[in-house]
Amino acid sequence: MPQITGGCLCGKVRYSADAEPVFTGICHCRNCQKESGSAFAIVIGIPQTALSVQGDLKTFEDKGDSGMAMLRRFCPNCGSTLMDQAMAMPDVIMVQAGTLDDPSWVKPAMQIYCDSAQPWVQLDGEMQRFGKMPG
Ligand SMILES: [Zn+2]
Ligand SMILES: [Zn+2]
Repeated sequence: MPQITGGCLCGKVRYSADAEPVFTGICHCRNCQKESGSAFAIVIGIPQTALSVQGDLKTFEDKGDSGMAMLRRFCPNCGSTLMDQAMAMPDVIMVQAGTLDDPSWVKPAMQIYCDSAQPWVQLDGEMQRFGKMPG
């Protein structure tokens, strides 16, 4: 089982989990591009009950394609985005893989919202691709 510990850039928020990720994936949606300030987000899905967080997170309430809330949580001190929670799937927290202490084991298995991927992005690896959200 991978060691799931991580935190934000300034260190005020830390998290850990003792569970296998439910999924690992890449999201090319415009909102994740905005949130990350990058071309895509890399997330690992962790069961909410297995995740413990130390420190205060601020929450921005975004909206997903489902029309339901998408809670995007970040450190109010340094601004690092740490985790998202889709109300369409509230039992799983999507942790931003770049905030892991050791992200080297992460192997995304799928890419979603490829319809809005930036045109120069070509990722290696055997990943399932979806234009939007898998049904
Ligand atoms: Zn911070
Ligand atoms: Zn997204």
